[in-house]
Amino acid sequence: MDQKKKETKLTRRDFMKTTAGATAVVGIAASGLFPAESMAANIPKKWDYNQDVIVIGSGFAGLAAAIEAKNGGASVVVLEKMRLAGGNSIINGGVIAAAGSPMQEQKGIKDSPELMLKDMMKAGLDLNYPDLAQMVAEQSKETLQWTIDYLGVKYVALLHMGGHTVSRSHMTYNSSGSAIVSKQLAKLKELGVKIKTQTYLESFIQDKKGRVIGLKIREGYKFPNASSGKIKYMKANKGVVLATGGFSRDVAFRITQDPKLVAKVDSTNQPGATADAFKEALRIGATPVQQSWIQLGPWASPDEKGFGLGPHFASGAVFTYGIMVDPKTGKRFVSELADRKVRADAIIKTGNICIGIADDVAAQNCGGPPKLLEKVLERGVVKKYNTLQELCAAYDMPYQDVKESVDNYNTYLKDGEDKEFGRFLQKDAKPIEKAPFYAMRLWPKVHHTMGGLQINKKAEVIGLDQKPIKGLYAAGEAAGGVHGAVRLGSCAVTDCLVFGRIAGKSVAAG
Ligand SMILES: Cc1cc2nc3c(=O)[nH]c(=O)nc-3n(C[C@H](O)[C@H](O)[C@H](O)COP(=O)(O)OP(=O)(O)OC[C@H]3O[C@@H](n4cnc5c(N)ncnc54)[C@H](O)[C@@H]3O)c2cc1C
Repeated sequence: MDQKKKETKLTRRDFMKTTAGATAVVGIAASGLFPAESMAANIPKKWDYNQDVIVIGSGFAGLAAAIEAKNGGASVVVLEKMRLAGGNSIINGGVIAAAGSPMQEQKGIKDSPELMLKDMMKAGLDLNYPDLAQMVAEQSKETLQWTIDYLGVKYVALLHMGGHTVSRSHMTYNSSGSAIVSKQLAKLKELGVKIKTQTYLESFIQDKKGRVIGLKIREGYKFPNASSGKIKYMKANKGVVLATGGFSRDVAFRITQDPKLVAKVDSTNQPGATADAFKEALRIGATPVQQSWIQLGPWASPDEKGFGLGPHFASGAVFTYGIMVDPKTGKRFVSELADRKVRADAIIKTGNICIGIADDVAAQNCGGPPKLLEKVLERGVVKKYNTLQELCAAYDMPYQDVKESVDNYNTYLKDGEDKEFGRFLQKDAKPIEKAPFYAMRLWPKVHHTMGGLQINKKAEVIGLDQKPIKGLYAAGEAAGGVHGAVRLGSCAVTDCLVFGRIAGKSVAAG
């Protein structure tokens, strides 16, 4: 077809752009309205680049996929739309879940993939795809070891995070995902794999049979300007791995799933955590799963932007060794170590910005990034008071009720049982009594999107006909199903690395 005719005829892509929603579009596509010829209508006469494998997204999942695809003998390139590589992964808290690790054994912690899977399924309200969740749990120990032995990542602590039955969350030396990402980037450099930043996935290109054979991209793209950069065509001889993360920062898209999550609800994510790549996959008939399960972090502070440092203090001091109260009643209202959804829902239900309280012992032992206490105090995210009375006065809380909540918790600690909320009590926990006392305000922020593209155990993206879309793979937060309704803290890194590696091996094998 010559260019002129093409312009007057409504192309499949144009048609899709005029259609109300991607779901309607994929339904039409799957029904066969678009003949195979029209699928291939966008194939360029000439490709600007030619690779075996194109990985889109430079976080844990994409970088793991690129490493494995390269080691599988493929030529590989990684595309990243932002100016810097790393996505959410490089700003992440650096905690990875693994069951049965040497660090656990050293501390005498008994754990197993079965127990980890049970915890994941319980938090996920059994909406998790069991086969996918099982793979994450079963491969968690080996994957952690891969980061240590193959990448050279160092871990320094083991945490007990909400919803986990035992301590299985391994903390990197700098309390940041950058400890893993920097090693992945170094490995890719060593392997000769290029990361092309400011390069945006515009659309997929398929052959007559629907196989993904390449991409239309924008080179020199400047986020968030959709028309920036130069259009180029990149061929993928073996396939494409979509590792484009979640959509926590895509307000327009997230409110289609949960209308409460309007722009004024902050997010912990980097600005590029948007749904554009996900929507492109929908356009070619990928099956979306569970996108409305959007996680809010209960440890977030309204007194700083994004993730900040407050969550480290909340998790390490308040939720582990202190208590959280509703300022109106002065009472606890949830187990401080329940899963994230239970805690975030409970805070929102109070209708009040809640107050986390920790004493000096807790604050000094809370771990996290270097000089955490000093920094959170400096930023005003955490405040210090000489007495509990002073603390209560500062937040207009009823002192007697707060005192009773503290006393009750101290009694539960002595008795070894939280009679109100069944919270797990740390073995090394001490009564809340040593001044000075610390407080922080807590209000949830959008943190993780559990839903995404349907994949199978080989990380192949599944189409609406429930068959793999040839040449298309997905991993990490871009894929859905592993976590069901709720992702447990530290399980995302494991998921991203497990399925990123699988996607890389699968695509290289063709
Ligand atoms: C602040 C924070 C702390 C966290 N801490 C932890 C933790 O300690 N433990 C844990 O398990 N989980 C944690 N998480 C969750 C975890 O970090 C994420 O789920 C994980 O990083 C997702 O990795 P990914 O590889 O799937 O995607 P990302 O790391 O988000 O990477 C995706 C990349 O794709 C790029 N991209 C998107 N669309 C396009 C496009 N169209 N073209 C080109 N590129 C595109 C994005 O810009 C991004 O760089 C945390 C999350 C946040 C935000």
